[in-house]
Amino acid sequence: EHAVELRHVYKRYTTRKARRGAPRVVDALHDVSLSVAQGEFVSIVGPSGCGKSTLLKVLLGLTRRTAGEVAFSGTGDHQHRLGMVFQQPLLLPWRTVTRNLLVSQDINHRLPPAEANERAAGMLKMLGLEEFADRYPAELSGGMQQRVGIGRALMHDPQILLMDEPFGALDAMTRDQMGMDLLRIWERDRKTVLFVTHSIPESVLLSDRVVVMTPRPGRIADVIDVDLPRP
Ligand code: ADP
Ligand code: ADP
Repeated sequence: EHAVELRHVYKRYTTRKARRGAPRVVDALHDVSLSVAQGEFVSIVGPSGCGKSTLLKVLLGLTRRTAGEVAFSGTGDHQHRLGMVFQQPLLLPWRTVTRNLLVSQDINHRLPPAEANERAAGMLKMLGLEEFADRYPAELSGGMQQRVGIGRALMHDPQILLMDEPFGALDAMTRDQMGMDLLRIWERDRKTVLFVTHSIPESVLLSDRVVVMTPRPGRIADVIDVDLPRP
């Protein structure tokens, strides 16, 4: 069963620099069709400006598609289906690690407080950050901060985890380590993952399928099945 399916999706940005200038038109997504199975780890690779972020934004509902269809499987409201991880962990510096995990809980009050705290503690354990529960983000390394970012995205148990260059700001060694950590998390509860990256080696190492976008924005060049044992 698919977790999400895009059918002939288009996104056109039209911007006008000067009042009387001709509009600049960018087809950031052009006839994109893609079906992602439940539990599948799919990465999207391509050069800067090829439409990777736009694809995630359309899925998140942060921008409206120009045409085409996006279908999610299952029930539940959109917000709770998706978890998002950005390149920067975007932690609140005045909150401890635990309180950062509880950000959306504090906004939505989804769970009874005791249950939410328990979830946060379990998440920290899974992330190997138990000792850092009461520390502040500035006391953590970049990799640890991003692990908190991933934990925060998983706190509401989303069906699909969307990741936009999540390790792009990390040094090479931390980046490799984070890739392994992410695989461990993925293998634990087999969430559907859509992972945007510039790095072909990273995409091949981590994912089941690699969606390659063309330098000309918006087009899928190829979808490659990765048939390698995971590390
Ligand atoms: P990527 O994530 O692969 O770097 P993006 O999805 O950010 O690519 O951008 C795809 C194309 O759409 C680029 O040409 C970019 O300049 C353009 N674009 C992205 N966002 C906007 C926007 N809000 N308005 C106009 N053009 C945009
Ligand atoms: P990313 O780092 O994901 O590629 P960018 O730095 O390209 O993102 O874009 C940052 C923000 O600026 C995004 O919200 C994007 O929609 C917007 N943007 C990108 N390109 C353009 C553009 N050509 N015109 C207007 N807005 C843009």
